[in-house]
Amino acid sequence: MTRILLLGGTTEASGLARALAARGRDAVFSYAGRTKAPVGQPLPVRVGGFGGVAGLAEYLRAEAITHVIDATHPFAARISANAVAACRATGVPLCAYERPQWDPGPGDRWTRVPDIAGAVAALPAAPARIFLAIGRQNLEPFAASPRHFYLLRLVDAPEGPLPLPEAEAVIDRGPFTEPGDRALMQAHRIGLIVAKNAGGSGARAKLDAARALGLPVIVIDRPAVPPRPVALEVEQVLAWLDHGAPPPTSPTERGV
Ligand code: NAP
Repeated sequence: MTRILLLGGTTEASGLARALAARGRDAVFSYAGRTKAPVGQPLPVRVGGFGGVAGLAEYLRAEAITHVIDATHPFAARISANAVAACRATGVPLCAYERPQWDPGPGDRWTRVPDIAGAVAALPAAPARIFLAIGRQNLEPFAASPRHFYLLRLVDAPEGPLPLPEAEAVIDRGPFTEPGDRALMQAHRIGLIVAKNAGGSGARAKLDAARALGLPVIVIDRPAVPPRPVALEVEQVLAWLDHGAPPPTSPTERGV
């Protein structure tokens, strides 16, 4: 008997949840609880943090979890590190389901930076109209560059004032399309994009739109995560669950 904990919060995790549900697998889907109305899932859902490594280890024991799948966002480094540590402590096997990072192609005008601070440091001296496409967290560091206009795209409307003096938020949820993102950038006369190197298809549209418009992009590299087995396709996750097949990139030490 297997009982799976699927750590989610991404388009990829939702796809995996559908695959598990279609196969009648016993699985629990876990959300951090960051958004007000998370996407519905075809699996039982739990919401909220576990309480660090110790809390997650306790949850694994209490729920008799036999397999953990980490399908969280590549920038959600803390929960991924916690999953590695809690699985090691409890002996529960872990597999990450990860999207390959994006790489620049012909026509892309990327500046790669290691982290949020690097992105702030890479902003131009002259006032610019910037699509700050990094979600709701990590906006405060950009307040150090108040001369720019920032276009934000958020899942939920902000409850208080934005931490940036000249900013506008559009409320929308991916997946996005290249024509849609191109129109958004043109409507706001965007001259520069700041993006996380999330990978995957749902958030790629802004990079394709930037290329089509000839716009520069500051691309933030992924944070480091401890080594763990990584599957890149749903089928690889299912083979790992069904036969213990090792994921093809096992283990990786991303960004370290
Ligand atoms: P994080 O910094 O890695 O995690 C912070 C804390 O949130 C964790 O220590 C954990 O709390 C809790 N947590 C995170 N993911 C969880 C999950 N799936 N289930 C239960 N608890 C979870 O993560 P984050 O960057 O704040 O992201 C939060 C969630 O949003 C993730 O699930 C991620 O997939 C999703 N997301 C993040 C981004 C992004 O850019 N960071 C973008 C899109 C979606 P405890 O220590 O108390 O267990």
